[in-house]
Amino acid sequence: MKIVIVGGVAGGASAACRLRRLDEFAEIVIFERSGYVSYANCGLPYYIGDIIPNEQNLTLQTPFTLFKRFNICVKVSHEVVDIDPIKKEVKVVNLLNNEEFIESYDKLILSPGAKPILPYFYIENKKVCSLRTVEDTLKIKNLINELKPQSACIIGAGYVGIEMAENLHNLGIKTSIIQLDSQVLNQFDFDMVSFIHQEILSKDINLMLKSKVISLEEVDNKIVVTLENNNTFATDLVIVSVGVIPENLLAKKASIDLDEKGCIVVNNNMQTSNPDIYAVGDVVSKLNIITNEFVPSFLAGAANKQGRIAANNICGIIDEYQGTLSTSILKVFDLSCASFGLNEKMCKEKGLNYEKIIISPMSHASYYPGGKVLTIKLLYNKDDLSIIGSQIVGYDGVDKRIDVLATASFLKSKVIMLKDLDLAYAPPYSSAKDPVNFLGFIAENIENNLVKQFYYEDLNKLSKDNNIILLDTRTSFEYQRGSAAGFIHIPLDELRSRLDELEKNKKIYVMCQSGLRSYLACRILNQYGFECYNFAGGYRLYSAIYNSEKLVKEAYDCGKDFKKI
Ligand code: FAD
Repeated sequence: MKIVIVGGVAGGASAACRLRRLDEFAEIVIFERSGYVSYANCGLPYYIGDIIPNEQNLTLQTPFTLFKRFNICVKVSHEVVDIDPIKKEVKVVNLLNNEEFIESYDKLILSPGAKPILPYFYIENKKVCSLRTVEDTLKIKNLINELKPQSACIIGAGYVGIEMAENLHNLGIKTSIIQLDSQVLNQFDFDMVSFIHQEILSKDINLMLKSKVISLEEVDNKIVVTLENNNTFATDLVIVSVGVIPENLLAKKASIDLDEKGCIVVNNNMQTSNPDIYAVGDVVSKLNIITNEFVPSFLAGAANKQGRIAANNICGIIDEYQGTLSTSILKVFDLSCASFGLNEKMCKEKGLNYEKIIISPMSHASYYPGGKVLTIKLLYNKDDLSIIGSQIVGYDGVDKRIDVLATASFLKSKVIMLKDLDLAYAPPYSSAKDPVNFLGFIAENIENNLVKQFYYEDLNKLSKDNNIILLDTRTSFEYQRGSAAGFIHIPLDELRSRLDELEKNKKIYVMCQSGLRSYLACRILNQYGFECYNFAGGYRLYSAIYNSEKLVKEAYDCGKDFKKI
């Protein structure tokens, strides 16, 4: 059997190595357009930022090592330009000498990935770059070494844009981010992203939100960025990172079925509409486990797993891709930001009957030094109590909580079961009741009507309602340092003795720093006959959103006149 693979990185290299482990005698050929195979694309921004010091660390495999260990024939700098599905042949161009040749196959695996979107304002210029391959990385790195840019501008604030901003900033380059939307990283909701905005701005990054670039032009050795409002901005280096689209040209040429977003349609075995052609990775649409819809998803985990699944099926081991939660994590300076499943915006779009829980626990036992607060938002479906999605930001312990929650969701656990998860505990790592268990406790309390919640977005309306009481139960010291508008103050520990200050016929909306003391207050008040509501996320979340909204506005104004925030 002869298997030809297009694309030799995440999905392609995984497929090739699994094929060899299953079939010692198959002929396996990889064609890779770039000059490198199986390179670490997720590490590219960190090489630019000198965190990964050696280029060799990005390219642990070479055609030679893959040949020696796996007997795989890897042809780098070779582009597959056409497929003849009838003759079962591909047309290949050797990019080093432009020679064309035909290669036959029994089975073909497409893993060509996704390419950066080059928007209408993109120009071919040495100082205007996008980042996908090792070549792109070396180009940016060489440019930095040669030209020593003082300033850089990132257009687009998704993963790659944010990672590049951090790495360029760490090199001492004054970095700006221009983003069309009112927030960075659209997988996060407005409340959770407020912590991310604060982190970015605390590093003196010039963040311009709601700002639309309309043109780039080289003037006097600088790139002049023009915004829609005709303001201009001169910078030494531009990174365009406004998203990616599937590399589907070959599939189109071979009349393979694509979905409306241009992704290749595959069955669970990774077969395309042509049973001898498999496709994996960024180029295929993937089953979203929560919505049961097929969606684009551009993450390395899926590509690697799908490569293995395609190889299994080709070798007669029936294997099915189970779908994705798009579980992801990224480092934003000192902050870790993770998510999976649907966010609240998506829940609303889908009309789901969802509930949200927001908590701010310590990453490990508060009495053991070094613990850091993390903020966890969990969404679950009130109809069947399934876990829909989560977003977590914090400095420590973010990765394990998102992975536990994603695993619970993947395994179809009900939200209340989170309270029973038996998780590892010692003071340096966690608390005897882990934050994940707490999410289960709170869900149980909500479902048993022991607690009702209110949210930041309710505050505007509530503050105008004279028939309710807004109550802050933090200490006097905390309250004096800042409080939400309209909240009266009774510290939790004085509440029982000051109940007569509260009118029984008014609903009480209670806030504390993280949501725990206000919950305790609600329980006390409730049992004395008051109807009360607990503010999800506490004052900590309130002030993060409030400040972020201010900053977003200032950032927008900044986009108008280019003042530094
Ligand atoms: P790729 O790994 O992109 O490989 C496709 C290869 O196919 C390319 O090398 C391309 O040159 C080659 N090719 C395309 N067309 C042809 C052709 N016609 N002939 C020959 N070769 C061809 N994901 C995460 O989960 N976490 C991260 O932290 C993360 N960070 C990232 C950082 C950066 C800078 C980038 C660019 C991506 C990052 N990703 C991350 C995404 C992740 O790298 C991709 O989801 C994953 O690599 C997709 O695998 P793939 O095999 O589909 O495509």
